[in-house]
Amino acid sequence: MAAPGTRVPPSHVPGGFSGEGGRGPPDGAARPKQLPELIRKKRDGERLSEEDIRAFVRAVVDGSAQDTQIGAMLMAIRLRGMDLEETATLTQALANSGQQLEWPEGWHQQLVDKHSTGGVGDKVSLVLAPALAACGCKVPMISGRGLGHTGGTLDKLESIPGFNVIQSPEQMQRLLEEVGCCIVGQSEELVPADGLLYAARDVTATVDSLPLITASILSKKAVEGLSALVVDVKYGGAAVFPDQEHARELARTLVGVGAGLGMRVAAALTSMDNPLGRSVGHALEVEEALLCLDGAGPRDLQDLVIRLGGALLWLSGQAEAQAQGAERVAAALNNGSARGRFERMLQGQGVEPGLARALCSGTPTQRRQLLPRAPEQEELRAPADGTVERIQALPLALVLHELGAGRSRSGQTIRPGVGAELLVDVGQKLRRGTPWLRVHLDGLPLSTQQRSALQGALLLSDRAPFAAPSPFTELVLPRSFTQP
Ligand code: URA
Repeated sequence: MAAPGTRVPPSHVPGGFSGEGGRGPPDGAARPKQLPELIRKKRDGERLSEEDIRAFVRAVVDGSAQDTQIGAMLMAIRLRGMDLEETATLTQALANSGQQLEWPEGWHQQLVDKHSTGGVGDKVSLVLAPALAACGCKVPMISGRGLGHTGGTLDKLESIPGFNVIQSPEQMQRLLEEVGCCIVGQSEELVPADGLLYAARDVTATVDSLPLITASILSKKAVEGLSALVVDVKYGGAAVFPDQEHARELARTLVGVGAGLGMRVAAALTSMDNPLGRSVGHALEVEEALLCLDGAGPRDLQDLVIRLGGALLWLSGQAEAQAQGAERVAAALNNGSARGRFERMLQGQGVEPGLARALCSGTPTQRRQLLPRAPEQEELRAPADGTVERIQALPLALVLHELGAGRSRSGQTIRPGVGAELLVDVGQKLRRGTPWLRVHLDGLPLSTQQRSALQGALLLSDRAPFAAPSPFTELVLPRSFTQP
């Protein structure tokens, strides 16, 4: 099976997490007998030295590490943790597994990026990258696929026919020159070690590890040569770290390790109890991203795009204050310039120009005809009168994952049309029997268990209707920065 970010046939993926056992070391590669000792060290709670970590990453990339050894090491790290120094070393070793991107000198201040720790319905990157490009930034976004129950930006973009997430460094530079942004995956040239470990984590219950998340995110960003990075750290029921304290610890680690590696990183804590926006599922999320690029769409999504963008423009010195940066991002959404960049990015990354234009200028109904669609739809109705207190994102994501929106084996094909549309907003009053969720199915109908899990996601109260709060909670800044 292919590692994320590669289109290489399974047998040719170095160190690919195939579950088929090791392929044996190539001539002159790291000696695999070292690995059991490294795994034992971490299993027993010892620190790994810089050389240990480098040897592990080398063995992953050159194919001498067996899949079982990779899984065992990831689990040992997941259970025993890593200190800041080990985490920084792992980050650097992953980053060094591929090429460092280099850009023209004059771009330095403009180079910015955003990444998320993983959410449900989180299509912010699809909107923010072109919006920042429209504000004069260069955004060389190296993104990821679905991880655990969370959706991946690359999978979402690949639901657009023709979109190619694999771009060489030269192609990325051309996209940045001509469009201002690109969204690409890891490849054999770009952070290959993260591509391999990411795929392994997704199927070995090792996603929720603070050092592994930190190294995975920052390694991709370290090669981008950025002026500033904002990481959206989710907390809440559907986040990798549900409680805010753990999420804050992750945020501080990202900011601190980033600073240690010479990167200006800020982390936004944002809540992930309800799905972000009203759509979950790859093609449906692309549709909703387009709506946001029209200057419309759900308020929580718009709000997050504008705040994260505002923070980035400020952190990179391109706006005097976050609020000023936020105004510029909002204007790029409202005046169509962000959507224009998105259309050019689609074309630049392989989408047929007529399709890119039709997607970007069409109505929501026309757009739906152009994207993959699941053949069946089923609606769920409110079981009682009440105010929508919460729509729990986790059960929704888990059912959609089972229906084909996620992977349970590395490299598995996903169903881009599977998803769900929320037909109601948090805070809204509902009458019993009102449809509140439309599920898009590509195969079997919902089972009784799945129906009841989904119905359980709708939490009603007898409160008066209320305006749903913004998911944005706080921004954790590098030491030298204070909120303007
Ligand atoms: N995004 C990544 O790139 N890696 C993680 O581990 C989580 C989110």
